[in-house]
Amino acid sequence: MRSVAAVRSTADALQTVLPPHALTFDLPLATLGRWRIGGPADVVASPESIEMLREVMAIITRTGVPHVIVGDGSNLLYDDAGFRGVVVRIGRAFGGFALDEDGVVNAGAGSWVPCFVRQVIDAGLAGATHAIGIPGTLGGLLTMNGGSQRRGIGENVLSVDVLERDGSLVRIEQADLDYRYRQSALQTRAAVVLSARFHFALADRHTLRQEAISILAARRAKFPRVRANCGSVFVSDPALYNLIGPPGMAIEKAGLKGFSIGGAQFSPDHANFIVNNGGARSQDVLELIALARSRVQALTGIAMDAEVRHLAPDGTLRPAHEVGHNLTSKATLYS
Ligand SMILES: Cc1cc2nc3c(=O)[nH]c(=O)nc-3n(C[C@H](O)[C@H](O)[C@H](O)COP(=O)(O)OP(=O)(O)OC[C@H]3O[C@@H](n4cnc5c(N)ncnc54)[C@H](O)[C@@H]3O)c2cc1C
Repeated sequence: MRSVAAVRSTADALQTVLPPHALTFDLPLATLGRWRIGGPADVVASPESIEMLREVMAIITRTGVPHVIVGDGSNLLYDDAGFRGVVVRIGRAFGGFALDEDGVVNAGAGSWVPCFVRQVIDAGLAGATHAIGIPGTLGGLLTMNGGSQRRGIGENVLSVDVLERDGSLVRIEQADLDYRYRQSALQTRAAVVLSARFHFALADRHTLRQEAISILAARRAKFPRVRANCGSVFVSDPALYNLIGPPGMAIEKAGLKGFSIGGAQFSPDHANFIVNNGGARSQDVLELIALARSRVQALTGIAMDAEVRHLAPDGTLRPAHEVGHNLTSKATLYS
């Protein structure tokens, strides 16, 4: 009951610092996430400036209600039971792109990744093209160290500017970001990513555009496009790759390509994607993740980790396989 009262007083306080259109109550998270899954969030706040964001974070810190920072929700599994707290969306108001005389690019966390990549290419700079087809915000990409072709955006990052919980603006240098494959220090730091500085190599624009076109064509041919999904579910693991191939191949070899539970299915096009065929629940997705993890582990001895992160109703955010862990015994029912 204490948390219900806290959320209510937080909502009242947020109304004093945000315009009405920037605040929504009881919004189904299915309308925000790419998987089109998830029950209602108590509050969704979409600040439109750093000042508004700072006030929002100060209120949340003061009242202590659970909160989560999101971009486009393209790497998040929202729960069927929703979220008892405040979702803070970092949207296009936090965009922006500038190239300084030293060739350093500064871009805002709310930028749409394909637009950011196009701007880098138009500036005749190489290094971001691999991310041309990734449908999320730059803040999400920086946090997840997203990329394609075994590359990650972190390779070109000089520094990331964040808003800390205490309201201070801090610049985190590359050496402290701990960028590893699909991982970064930002995933465990309770800070809001605002922008980043990048260094890219000079290159021929025409060649970069051709490269972008062929990457997009390859993605269109390989990945499911019609059904709602969240991209790759499991992270590629070098040991698994050497033994059997990427996660999609391992799931296929485990006999699960096309397998479904409820409305969720391992895509018949690419087994490392779970698609929502209509009415999928987070529980269905978590069970599929647990099943694939246990089957592939039985086959290879290697446990795959999920890239996709699950938001629990109490605000716990963690890789989805950690939630599905206790579903493994249930998953064996499908074996
Ligand atoms: C069809 C499809 C294809 C995809 N292909 C790829 C791919 O090829 N490669 C790849 O790496 N990913 C891929 N993804 C996953 C996803 O698009 C990327 O990880 C993306 O950059 C996430 O951005 P987002 O804004 O949607 O982040 P969200 O899903 O909203 O958030 C992801 C994580 O980042 C945190 N976060 C987001 N914004 C901020 C911020 N401003 N400050 C602090 N924390 C923040 C969230 O709390 C969460 O932990 C794909 C997804 C889809 C749906």
